[in-house]
Amino acid sequence: MKEITKNILRKEYNIEDKIIEYVIGKEKLIIEKFKEINEIKEYNQYKVIKAMQGNRLSSTDFYWTTGYGYGDIGREKVESIYASVFNTEDALVRPTIASGTHAITLTLSGILRPGDELVAISGPPYDTLQKVIGVKGNSQGTLIEYGVVYKEIPLLENKIDLETVRETISSKTRMVMIQRSTGYSDRRALTIDEIEETIESIREYNNEVIIMVDNCYGEFIETKEPTDVGADIIAGSLIKNPGGGLALSGGYVAGKQDLVERVANRLTAPGLGKDCGLSFGTSRTTMQGLFLAPHIVSEALKGALVVAKAYKDLGFRVVPDVDDKRSDIIQAVELLLPERVSEFCIGIQAASAVDSYVTPEAWDMPGYEDKVIMAAGGFIEGSSIELSADGPMREPYYVYYQGGLTYEHCKLGLLISLNNLYKKDLISL
Ligand SMILES: *Cc1c(COP(=O)(O)O)cnc(C)c1O
Repeated sequence: MKEITKNILRKEYNIEDKIIEYVIGKEKLIIEKFKEINEIKEYNQYKVIKAMQGNRLSSTDFYWTTGYGYGDIGREKVESIYASVFNTEDALVRPTIASGTHAITLTLSGILRPGDELVAISGPPYDTLQKVIGVKGNSQGTLIEYGVVYKEIPLLENKIDLETVRETISSKTRMVMIQRSTGYSDRRALTIDEIEETIESIREYNNEVIIMVDNCYGEFIETKEPTDVGADIIAGSLIKNPGGGLALSGGYVAGKQDLVERVANRLTAPGLGKDCGLSFGTSRTTMQGLFLAPHIVSEALKGALVVAKAYKDLGFRVVPDVDDKRSDIIQAVELLLPERVSEFCIGIQAASAVDSYVTPEAWDMPGYEDKVIMAAGGFIEGSSIELSADGPMREPYYVYYQGGLTYEHCKLGLLISLNNLYKKDLISL
């Protein structure tokens, strides 16, 4: 790092020399790993461009209509491009899908009928989904209230317990759900190879059950997606990876045509399905975001790696570990003290381009059981493909760091949070 760069960190951000040298040192130790990330980025970039070309994306697709949104060409193009990228028969991509939770809820409630059994085979699903299913909280209209039977199989030493899955799946089982990403847990993300092995194992004895993958945070981390290895349907959020930081809002569902149709009937109404629903002029940013997504994801991954290396070498447990194969953009760091989680998040917030002057505090966020502290100074509110960190205030005080539209921004976040922790005597160098 040149003196001019160190000087702006020292003078404008008040970072201690010791911290700057520490981070530079750690970066040198992982730079080799950036090559593989770049390789995957390159492949995915070509894949996305080909999908746009193959579907003849044109400048007129960015016009939009009003009212019912019949013949909203942009919306239809966006959906066929998503289907191509994810190698599926069909896709539903809408700005009116409010979040990842909403996309997954639509998928579950669109496909499952009263009496159907849903089996989560990668342990407890993401916090908000536990409320959707009805195993936590007391929300109205949960899947259980609608008569869905729910079973859950814990991971066995961080892996899907294929034996128990085999014993559990019966003729009543309509859907199996796999969560690719860490969520708010201390497990690694499941790799595409692991998801493939699981699907192959299930298909040896059952061809009927629908295999659904919660793909949040997983898009473009590898060259393949769950739908390339046999998943019937996937869902995710546009303010995470595939939105590339530019999508204003939204969610997607991609999969077999008959399944996407059921989900669309739930989103709009039976009989209307995918044929209506305005895109509100979002097709351009949704496509620009998808175009950038492979690159943005690679930047975020590099950021996650340098954070992992810096905290691991301070003695903290990091998930995934520095040398683990990654399958999402999340970096969990076990900080053991609530003050460390707060200072970490305060540092990430201070590094943001937007709302940098705000000090985050733990609060009762809707959908979550414990208080959660969140650092999020994004151009898009709540966007976690942008530099962000959050931690539920519960033992052993993990902080979940993710995103960053540029590697340099990730590095600034790391520098400021380390500096905070150091000045408050919460770490020693
Ligand atoms: C973020 C996330 C969700 C929910 O997405 P929201 O957009 O926050 O509602 C679901 N599952 C996993 C694994 C996630 O990471």
